[in-house]
Formats: sequence, structure tokens, C-alpha cells
Amino acid sequence: MTKQRVLSGMQPSGLLHLGNLLGALDNWRRLQDQYECYYFIADWHALTTNYADTSKLRDYVREMVIDWLAAGLDPEKAVLFRQSLVPEHAVLHVLLSMSTPLPWLERVPTYKEKMDQIKDRDMNTYGFLGYPVLQAADILIYKANFVPVGIDQLPHLELTREICRRFDQFYGEVFPEPQPLMTEYPKLPGTDGRKMSKSYNNCLYLSDTPEVIMKKVMAMVTDPARVRRQDPGNPDVCPLFTLDRIFAPKAWCDHVNVECRRAGIGCVDDKKELLKHLLAYLGPIQEKRRDLSAHPEKVAEIIAEGSRRARVIAARTLAEVNEAMKL
Ligand code: SF4
Repeated sequence: MTKQRVLSGMQPSGLLHLGNLLGALDNWRRLQDQYECYYFIADWHALTTNYADTSKLRDYVREMVIDWLAAGLDPEKAVLFRQSLVPEHAVLHVLLSMSTPLPWLERVPTYKEKMDQIKDRDMNTYGFLGYPVLQAADILIYKANFVPVGIDQLPHLELTREICRRFDQFYGEVFPEPQPLMTEYPKLPGTDGRKMSKSYNNCLYLSDTPEVIMKKVMAMVTDPARVRRQDPGNPDVCPLFTLDRIFAPKAWCDHVNVECRRAGIGCVDDKKELLKHLLAYLGPIQEKRRDLSAHPEKVAEIIAEGSRRARVIAARTLAEVNEAMKL
């Protein structure tokens, strides 16, 4: 039976952290066993916000792919490729942009939000406004059946579906409408208690050494009201306890849940126990990471081969598009 197709991408905008691992990569790894998966390095998308300084782009691409492979993405199961090595994405982007009404793009919630948030760069660019059209091209060029999304990305996918319907209405049915594969990611707190995010500088990176992870966890924020060891704490509001629940055994979490509330356990004890489990979890990933980092040529070869495979499918779809549009 032919497997249904899944498409997802990630911008190479820095090192990947534990939140990316639990949020996206673990999910991608599971999906690669059930679907025909296409996972791409969205390097053109990275340019929409970081167009002025591309000096680190290649390093980010290499490190991101190393993180992917270390986290268990398997080039034998999924097609791992780089967007800029498949120029058919750009051609379809141009063609879709012809029929996409401007107000559809202007009303995308993240467009206005990011315009307001990013103050250090001029975001009033054609590329940034057209980002969702490029995204639609990324998905439609593979005729993807499913796109893994969290609830906040649903409007983007809906726009792709609208662009797809409009194209099919003008030129005949070429693309299947991609469906959301709803994924609820655990929200991971960073070391300062806020959501783990590069922009907050509060991340545990997959590339951090065990020593760095130890240092970061030992300095991590806990229940802010628990100032001294003898103060009772509240695990319900403690960011470290969220990590306990993910990485430590249930018996330990149950123990902390009782003892913390009566000051029977200190935060240092809890952090040490968490570290034991967290480092054991990250150990094999970091070992694989070290191995891959020593062989960057292997990593480059995986992406070149994946991009070649992706191009075969993308070229086939583009030929159908050209035919439908009488080009
Ligand atoms: S003992 Fe654990 S759960 Fe309680 S406040 Fe400290 S770190 Fe948080």
C-alpha cells in the first residue's frame, strides 16, 4: 500500500535545544515509520527574517542536520533535504504568487505580530510578506497529504489550503488539499522559567556538553517563592518539576510532589536527581552528535542525496503544473 506523504521543515536559525527535540524532532522520528516523510532545511525561509547577515547560515544548516540525525531521523526512512537545492520550490512560489490575493497575506496573524516584534531589522520586504506563499509551494510541490502542525500554525496551513483550492479552481485539480496532523507539543520551560527559546537565552542545547548542562540545570529557576531550604515549595509552579515529570521516573516525581511541599527535600537534591536522568537521556544523542561532527562530509552527502530524491518528485509536480497552466 502506498504510504501517505508528510511534509515538514525547520529554519536553520541556530542550534537546536531540548524544546525542539521534544516538540518537533521526536514527532518527526515517529512519523517517519508511518508515512513517506519529507523533512527540509528551510534556508530560504530563514532569509525572510535574516536576509542581511548570512555569515552563519551554512554553519547553522550543518549543525541542524547533525541534530536531526543525532535525534534519530533516518535518511533511509525519510527524505532529508535542503530547500535551496530544490529550485522547483521557487518556481512554484512564483506561479502561486500570481493568483494569491494580497489581502490574504496581509491578514496572516503572524505577519503583523512579527512586524511589531522585530524592531532591529526592516521587515517591510516582499520576501517576508510572501513567506506563506513559499510555504504553500513547499507543501504542494510534494503533494503532501499531511503537515504536522500545532494549533498556532493552523492559520498558515489554512492559507495553503486556500491557495491550493484557488489554483485547482483556475487550472484543474493538480494538488490534493493538505490536511493538518495535529500535534500537541509539551511546553518546555527554559532555565529562567519562561518558555525555552533561543531568543530568551535560556536553552539546554543538544550540543551542550554534560558539564554545561549540569551548570545550567544547577542554576535553573525553581519555585520563586521558595527562598530557603527550609521553606516549603510548590511543584505546581516550579519549572524544574516540569522537567522532572518528563525525564525522571514517576516514583521520584511522586516523592518530590510530597516532600517539596513540606520542605522534606531541597531543590539541589531534586536538580541532581533530574540531571542523572536528563544526561542519561541525552547521552546517546550527544555521542552520535560527536561522531557526525567528526564527519561533516557524511552529513553533506546525506543532504545532497536527499535533495536529489526530493527534486525528482518536485520536478514531476512542476511538469503537471506547467501542463495545467499551459506554460
Ligand atoms: S524541590 Fe523540586 S519541585 Fe520543589 S521547588 Fe525545588 S526544584 Fe521545584
